[in-house]
Amino acid sequence: MSRLIVVSNRVNPPADPGVGTAGGLAMALSAALREDKGLWFGWSGHTVEPYTGQLSMQVVGGVTVALLDLDTQDEQEYYNGYANRTLWPLFHYRPDLVNYERSFDEGYERVNTRFAETLLPLIGPDDIIWVQDYHLIPLGRELRKRGVKNRIGFFLHIPWPARRILSTLPRHAELVESMFSYDLVGFQTEDDVEAFTDYAIHDAGAALEKDGVISAYGRRIRARAFPIGIDATDFEATLKSERAELFYKTMLNSQAGRKMLLGVDRLDYSKGLEERFTAYETLLANNPGMHGHLFLLQIATRSRDEVDAYQDLRGRLDNLSGKINGAYATVDWVPLRYVNRAYRRDELAGIYRAADIGLVTPLRDGMNLVAKEYVAAQDPENPGVLVLSQFAGAAEQMKEALIVNPLSREDVSEAVHRGLSMPLKERKRRWESLMENVRRNDVSRWRDDFVACLKTPITELAGVE
Ligand code: ADP
Repeated sequence: MSRLIVVSNRVNPPADPGVGTAGGLAMALSAALREDKGLWFGWSGHTVEPYTGQLSMQVVGGVTVALLDLDTQDEQEYYNGYANRTLWPLFHYRPDLVNYERSFDEGYERVNTRFAETLLPLIGPDDIIWVQDYHLIPLGRELRKRGVKNRIGFFLHIPWPARRILSTLPRHAELVESMFSYDLVGFQTEDDVEAFTDYAIHDAGAALEKDGVISAYGRRIRARAFPIGIDATDFEATLKSERAELFYKTMLNSQAGRKMLLGVDRLDYSKGLEERFTAYETLLANNPGMHGHLFLLQIATRSRDEVDAYQDLRGRLDNLSGKINGAYATVDWVPLRYVNRAYRRDELAGIYRAADIGLVTPLRDGMNLVAKEYVAAQDPENPGVLVLSQFAGAAEQMKEALIVNPLSREDVSEAVHRGLSMPLKERKRRWESLMENVRRNDVSRWRDDFVACLKTPITELAGVE
């Protein structure tokens, strides 16, 4: 029987599939794995000295998981190094923040080899393997080297960079070549597919056929966009929970009739938080009449604290928020509420619903699920307005949002102004179209489309010989 094997850096099936506090991705993958009696394989998040290569197998929420402990050098070089200090900034168009060391690269290769060696004995002849994200790009190649003939797919959750950016990475050619060990490579957007194809054609002499089929390095693969979504049904149910209701009411009370702009992000330089604060400052500077009648709530959960660039960013945001409040606050009004803690999903749902403007302005983002959650949380009779960066993957689908260039503070500030004065009829029209999209392109569809495509051999595609 054919099973699905999902491989990702971290493995996080919800302990109780009924509770719905886990993220949509974890829920969707878990549901597929339960149905298929599949397996979820990845790093336990723990380190041991020395590395043993032993797997711990567990059943969590009906899903079989296989966890591998790495050693501290792996954690430093592979996870904190190549994944978070090299690939993440590069793929988010920040070559200025890229830290490249050969040891990172070696750690990345070593961990991918360790994943391949420990996964190998678990693979049955008919299993299909689905590798997730930038931590594991070379895994397909390592499995092929060890004789794995199964169908293997790869999905990249973050953007694929333009070829000139990618070529600043030492050994970029090897990285791209390893993408050709898969049968199917999936991206968030058409833009990413185009960037990947562009590199393959110009730098690897690839030939492009119909239907995303592309051949290079003696292999024929498919490259396609599979935009990820949220679990919209589950999110709508969460919204009806007591806790969501409580948070909604608490926010309304604390708003005291003021308009609320809301940002919810991991504290990451790709999210454009400084630019967002500056745009808000511009809005305040240009509209004295608004003072006292609105505020920005920015929830920014601390993330990757061990990486310098994240500590630096945190310092700059602390300063900037202090500066804005120092300049504009009055005894009874704080214009910027800047919160560094995390909230549960049901709590967030209530907070989203209370916001008049959802401010989602990353400088670069694979998709951005906050944009979709914000839309899903709105009251259909009185929906808020989504202000969305043109550089979020979500902008390819969410065309009824107010699309902005996050680098222009005037652009963002004007969009917020426009959103705040938008007539109800227009808000409803835009929201209905956005919501239809959020429901249609949900996470189950993403998963089903990818798996169905991975199961279809290239030769069975219409129009491809
Ligand atoms: P990324 O994966 O880069 O963090 P996404 O927008 O795609 O960005 O996904 C972020 C997810 O994390 C969303 O599901 C969002 O609800 C959640 N999240 C972000 N910030 C917080 C927070 N402060 N508290 C709780 N959850 C958060």
